[in-house]
Amino acid sequence: MGNIQIVNPANGSLVSAVHNHSVQECVAAAEVASTAFTAWRKTLPRQRGEILRTAFDIMVAEQEALAELIVSENGKVLSDARAEVAYAAEFFRWFSEEAVRIDGDLRQAPNGTNWLAVTREPVGVALCITPWNFPAAMATRKVGPALAAGCTVLLKAAHETPLTAYAIADILKRAGLPDGVLQVITPDPPGDAVAALLASGIVRKLSFTGSTRVGSLLLSQAASNIVNCSMELGGNAPFIICDDADIDAAVDGAMIAKMRNGGAACTAANRFYVHTQVLDEFTSKFVKRMSALVVGDGMAPTTTLGPLVSAVQQSRVSSLVERAITEGAIALCGASATPAPMHGYAATVLAGVQQHHSIIQQEVFGPVAPIIEVQDIEESIPLFNGVDHGLVSYIYTRNHGRGMRLAHALETGMVGLNRGLVSDPAAPFGGVKQSGLGREGGHDGLLAFMETKYVSTDW
Ligand code: NAD
Repeated sequence: MGNIQIVNPANGSLVSAVHNHSVQECVAAAEVASTAFTAWRKTLPRQRGEILRTAFDIMVAEQEALAELIVSENGKVLSDARAEVAYAAEFFRWFSEEAVRIDGDLRQAPNGTNWLAVTREPVGVALCITPWNFPAAMATRKVGPALAAGCTVLLKAAHETPLTAYAIADILKRAGLPDGVLQVITPDPPGDAVAALLASGIVRKLSFTGSTRVGSLLLSQAASNIVNCSMELGGNAPFIICDDADIDAAVDGAMIAKMRNGGAACTAANRFYVHTQVLDEFTSKFVKRMSALVVGDGMAPTTTLGPLVSAVQQSRVSSLVERAITEGAIALCGASATPAPMHGYAATVLAGVQQHHSIIQQEVFGPVAPIIEVQDIEESIPLFNGVDHGLVSYIYTRNHGRGMRLAHALETGMVGLNRGLVSDPAAPFGGVKQSGLGREGGHDGLLAFMETKYVSTDW
């Protein structure tokens, strides 16, 4: 099968290579995970919690090295990579605490004849598939709760960024995780191996983060064995700025919601709806901040915007912007790709965009902010909801009651109200409509890797 070569998106240099697992090797890994499950599910919650807590400590101590590894394979700016490691480590701390809080329920039957005892059990072998955009955090957000619940894990990392996944597995091993409980697999292309795993009857849980297209395909493959699925898929977040918003706060929030991770986040603000009264002020302040971003190698101290992960992603973003301009949008800044070998794209603001433009209906996943002018916020709710996705939305208003009413009306799993960042290991993260099924993080994240068992009893 050969190796998978990992290339630095900033300069095209070879960073490293990892083994390309065959279909047979992946199925053999599932058998190992199945054997390991017998012992791992019986470990004490405290023991599982302490392994995760030790892994948290190691990740925090080794934050810099891990951040540099992420920059080398993903391209993001070092400050973003440091933030990702801190965020990723928090999933281990949170789920180390959840491991000892696995709850049940005991109630008398309504007719008084017996008792309803409810307990939780680990689902079994979990296949966790992660994307390239947050190679550490998307891994720990799945591996943390799976291990806390007592599941064994096959972690299928993205072929662009497998080194971070291997580094996290090594940290868990040093924290005391027994052999076979977590294995990283890197089949490339992944389709046949993942299909074989879902058909094997060994994998009982699929936790997937990635595009809606692949998520939908995997749901159909999981259907034949009724594999339990959690899906964190694409986003297309509206960022709504009301006439009564604090515009400086909205610009700060917009920079985080749009530019965290260079725009390559499922939570990224994808469509800016700005009330007519504040359009000029917001646009001029936002364009000033976006134009000041410097594209370059994520390790260089002057860089504030890293390259996209690959040439494929760069040309995808370029085409989206070109098409928007053909459809009538006006570029107020950016709209240019950096020359090879760097896969960069300048921070771009597009004015004069309309709801039917293709850039509004798709996930940009890059540093491009299209702005739509709206005359009436409440009457525009159908526009905010008028896409297939429903992961997150952002609202800026000084009237908190109005903000809560809007939050209630928006068809998304999460809302940032006067905040440009919603991600929190303690909160249930996830979307509605084509953004996914289930939640990660919080207590829900643990329950996603557990089955409920009910015992009808009497004594
Ligand atoms: P992707 O769907 O192409 O790939 C995701 C993972 O699936 C990778 O590991 C990839 O190797 C694997 N994969 C690809 N084709 C497959 C197949 N046929 N069978 C099995 N596995 C396959 O997505 P991407 O481009 O890596 O990531 C970007 C997408 O992820 C965006 O749509 C983004 O919104 C989404 N995302 C969502 C969340 C969330 O929590 N909702 C978080 C991060 C990213």
